[in-house]
Amino acid sequence: MMEVIERVLISKGELDRQAEELGRRISEDYAGKELVIIGVLKGGFIFLADLARKITIPVDLDFMSVSSYGDSSKSSGVVKIIKDVDTNIGGKHVLIVEDIIDTGLTLNHLVELLKTRGPLSVKICAALDKPSKRKANVQVDYKGIEIPDEFVVGYGLDYAGKYRNIPEVCILKKEIYMK
Ligand code: 5GP
Repeated sequence: MMEVIERVLISKGELDRQAEELGRRISEDYAGKELVIIGVLKGGFIFLADLARKITIPVDLDFMSVSSYGDSSKSSGVVKIIKDVDTNIGGKHVLIVEDIIDTGLTLNHLVELLKTRGPLSVKICAALDKPSKRKANVQVDYKGIEIPDEFVVGYGLDYAGKYRNIPEVCILKKEIYMK
């Protein structure tokens, strides 16, 4: 599978260290509080699996699956809910866990939607951050590793549904897109 990779951008070691550090901060910040962690599928599943096991307080875990309306290669900011959470988030603290923040439009919409359900707070944790592409003014409370404006795969992120299972964050070879 690695034959499709141009180069590794972020190693597994670096990703593990980041999950540990964010897990420690989240455990401290939410100690004694009722926290619901919402993983955004599909891309967020590997980061969430790593992060959740570094969190040392009891939490509820749930998942949402959303998709952008329109052209799938461009974020429109209007999200369609494919799968909603089963958990009632009213009166609880919510932490959304995402793979990557690019334009921020998807997350912005998701935060606004969840806020209508009466949570005590809604915060965001993302494994990767592409600040150069930001369009929406989203506050990322637990910010991940900054990456340049490159299309990456691995660690949960796909190209045409594939490569989510590569352990590192990688840049794909150009010829894979060109095909
Ligand atoms: P945005 O922040 O632009 O609304 O959208 C974020 C979503 O776009 C992410 O959850 C992810 O699914 C997708 N995305 C953004 N940048 C990349 C990238 O470099 N690689 C992959 N595979 N997906 C990306």
